[in-house]
Amino acid sequence: MAIAVCSGSFDPVTYGHLDIIARGANVFDKVIVAVLINSKKNSLFSVEERVELLRQATADMKNVEVDSFDGLLIDYMNKKGAQVIIRGLRAVSDFEYEMQVASINKKLDEHIETFFMMTNNQYSYLSSSIVKEVAKYKASVADLVPPIVEEALKRKMAE
Ligand code: ADP
Repeated sequence: MAIAVCSGSFDPVTYGHLDIIARGANVFDKVIVAVLINSKKNSLFSVEERVELLRQATADMKNVEVDSFDGLLIDYMNKKGAQVIIRGLRAVSDFEYEMQVASINKKLDEHIETFFMMTNNQYSYLSSSIVKEVAKYKASVADLVPPIVEEALKRKMAE
């Protein structure tokens, strides 16, 4: 069984993430969406909130599971019996960093493969940071995130 992991901050999940997750789920037997617990990064949503939003947003994807992890991705993958890392590429600017990470992961564990998927053109400009910026100024994020995330952003901004 081919199990893939799609890791990231997902602060919060966007239609860009969901596109990559859904396409990955069409290729692999199981996709685990893993939220990285990274205390160094200032996040808007807590890990629990991000996991919950992802769970709701992927509820109709039967072979997708949502989890969080701490430490090295490779260690987490071995624990889960996963062999593949799925990453999305938006622009050339993503490429250099992604190549570095993929090379390191290969060095750490040669059995792990990284699969890259080109963004859907429609979402090539889309990132969680952009969504937060737009929401901060109370502009509509309806085209960028699912309704549950839009609601969660409204609540956060009102806090
Ligand atoms: P990170 O903090 O590791 O960059 P993100 O939560 O931003 O994590 O993204 C997780 C994964 O989703 C990454 O592989 C990223 O390239 C991909 N991704 C994010 N936004 C998009 C998008 N609009 N189109 C395609 N892939 C995307």
